[in-house]
Amino acid sequence: MDLQLKDKVAVVMAASKGLGAATARVFAEEGAHVVISARNAQALHATAQDIARCTDVRVLPVVADSSKAADIARLIDTAVRTFGRIDALVANAGGPPAGRFIDFDDAAWHNAIELTLMSTVRAARAVIPVMQQQGGGSITFITSVSVKHALDNLVFSNSLRLAVAGMVKTLAREVGPDNIRVNLICPGYTATDRILELAAAHARRNGTTVEAELAKSGAHTALGRVASVEEFARPCVFLASPAASYITGTALVVDGGQSRSL
Ligand code: NAD
Repeated sequence: MDLQLKDKVAVVMAASKGLGAATARVFAEEGAHVVISARNAQALHATAQDIARCTDVRVLPVVADSSKAADIARLIDTAVRTFGRIDALVANAGGPPAGRFIDFDDAAWHNAIELTLMSTVRAARAVIPVMQQQGGGSITFITSVSVKHALDNLVFSNSLRLAVAGMVKTLAREVGPDNIRVNLICPGYTATDRILELAAAHARRNGTTVEAELAKSGAHTALGRVASVEEFARPCVFLASPAASYITGTALVVDGGQSRSL
């Protein structure tokens, strides 16, 4: 199937590593020019060079913190000034801190709101006028399977990602007439560096191996294993592409059947 992404322009936020980097790479493999952002310039430029080396598209790295309003505005502005349009925005950020309700004060909640909720609000607000003017586009928010079922020890994710889900339902109806699609993608256990580091820490503590710890996480899923980053990135790029032209206002769960909710 042709995803119709050749010479399109995709912006992927928080993409020096993990799900964002894998998503940017698949966009590039499908022929889209990509703009990627992250806070760490060195890691971001290394990822941009890596993607550019393996594909024949333009890759523009823009240092930007997803939790900062001015950075998001500059990211979208730079993308438009460079490429003249944005066909797909994939809004992403690092995960909010893990912890229980009792662990966090107001300051911690405010930080998590900036990172997990306001980053999505600001990214959508910045890109919608661009997409309206060019006649359409897609916005995809990377969230978590926590949208479908609450995960232990992740009160920020369980709370704030539902606000993003509610916003997506509303926004999809408001901008549908402008030919702009808005969706969530909800990863489950996916073997990013962060997950591998956590598994390594658990392995040291439990006297096991990284593979054994990953297998424990994977055992919660129907498929019995964690996902590779490509298994997340491919459906993410499909959802953001013109090939998914009648899909909006929905949550695509990529969790290997971990969630039992309908
Ligand atoms: P990761 O830590 O591997 O990568 C995160 C990327 O975001 C890195 O490039 C990092 O530099 C960048 N980043 C972090 N904070 C940023 C910020 N404030 N501004 C700009 N860039 C920032 O994480 P990941 O596993 O790819 O996760 C991405 C998102 O998906 C997170 O919100 C995470 O909670 C969520 N998620 C991941 C999994 C999983 O299993 N990997 C599962 C469910 C949800």
